[in-house]
Amino acid sequence: MAINAPKGTKDILPSQAYRWRYVERKFAELCERAGFSEIRTPEFEHTELFARGVGDTSDIVEKQMYTFSDYAGRSITLRPEGTAGVVRSFIEHKLYAGTMPAKLRYEISCFRYEKPQSGRLRAFHQFGVEIFGADGMIADTEVIALADDFLRGLGLTDLELRINSIGCPDCRGGYREALKAFLAPKYDELCETCKSRYERNPMRVLDCKSPHCHALTEGAPLMIDYLCDGCKEAFDDLQANLTALGIAYIVDPSIVRGLDYYTKTAFEFVTEHIGAQGTVCGGGRYDHLIEELGGPPIPGVGFGLGIERLLLLLENCGIDLPNPDGPDALVAFIGAEAKGGALQLLRSLREAGLSAEIDSLGRSIKNQFKYADRIGARHVVIIGDEELQSGQATVKDMNTGTQERVAFEKVAERINRNKQENE
Ligand code: ATP
Ligand code: MG
Repeated sequence: MAINAPKGTKDILPSQAYRWRYVERKFAELCERAGFSEIRTPEFEHTELFARGVGDTSDIVEKQMYTFSDYAGRSITLRPEGTAGVVRSFIEHKLYAGTMPAKLRYEISCFRYEKPQSGRLRAFHQFGVEIFGADGMIADTEVIALADDFLRGLGLTDLELRINSIGCPDCRGGYREALKAFLAPKYDELCETCKSRYERNPMRVLDCKSPHCHALTEGAPLMIDYLCDGCKEAFDDLQANLTALGIAYIVDPSIVRGLDYYTKTAFEFVTEHIGAQGTVCGGGRYDHLIEELGGPPIPGVGFGLGIERLLLLLENCGIDLPNPDGPDALVAFIGAEAKGGALQLLRSLREAGLSAEIDSLGRSIKNQFKYADRIGARHVVIIGDEELQSGQATVKDMNTGTQERVAFEKVAERINRNKQENE
């Protein structure tokens, strides 16, 4: 019996891969222009890193991690998100000893045991950036503006940017108490997970995916009304920066990135075009995470952007990404004699930097032309007996239909000239 891919995973087939390559290139170019350097970290880490780095009251750590023991009995977890590993690496290699802030970007596969549905997979991919070592709102602005530039640059215009401030340890204490007082009379009705969150991290209750818990939190006190002066000032500053950049946003006090180390800024880019899983990009500030993971007290801010959701959104918005062109040439040959010359010519075209193909199925010359059409070849270079004798190939420009004889060693030059004229 044939074996299928595991539930919640998706193959990226050749017919789709060019779309991935396109967004990957765009993201890399944009990050380079904005001074973010690439970092690559392993697909798996010690489980403890995520328990501490993502937070043990988060959905991810509570129920979504792919965790296993390796042969030496260590607890290992497949990366469910990017920040924890990047922070671990930043500390381990003392990158903070270099020029600060550190601006990093990555593209990663992530693994979460979730209920698969549209826009929600078990193996998925993210683009991400982090800025370490900048505590002012310019860094938050840069991170948000980068996501905005990227999404708009792809032609997406109606994503909504929602921002919130979730305070800092100074102001969160008072809020925590107010929230617990609000939830106390409803405690018995909360789901089991939220009951444990009630003590450990009541803000997580606001982010519960259960509709019942969600309904119970209606009218709950909002962090935004409890911000200390410093957090309020920062939030105002961020909004002034976004306004100066002409980036539209709405303040959404319901956004919770309820980990203990998340502080101040939280944001999401949300769309209505891809169904219930509408958050394409989510991020925020985490001023205590690096310290929490054993590093110096260095603040951080960043985002994760789901690539599958991004591509789904582009498709649903009817935005076609440029399909790569077919090869510059198909080298067609007639008869066994011509085969050697054709293979040589094929190789010389590739050496000259052109893309070139040859038929490997023994097609007739008529079918080689059909094949050229199907793969979108812009030229067909024909070699038969006559061409072998004269040392000149027949070069047909498939766009114009013109045909000419060109000495073998000049074919690459001829095709290159046609290419330039067409550009
Ligand atoms: P959600 O509320 O949709 O579960 P999240 O808060 O768990 O999202 P983050 O951890 O912030 O998501 O991850 C950043 C981005 O990664 C999300 O905005 C989304 O685009 C993408 N993402 C998260 N989980 C998945 C998944 N299971 N499948 C595909 N993409 C995902
Ligand atoms: Mg989630």
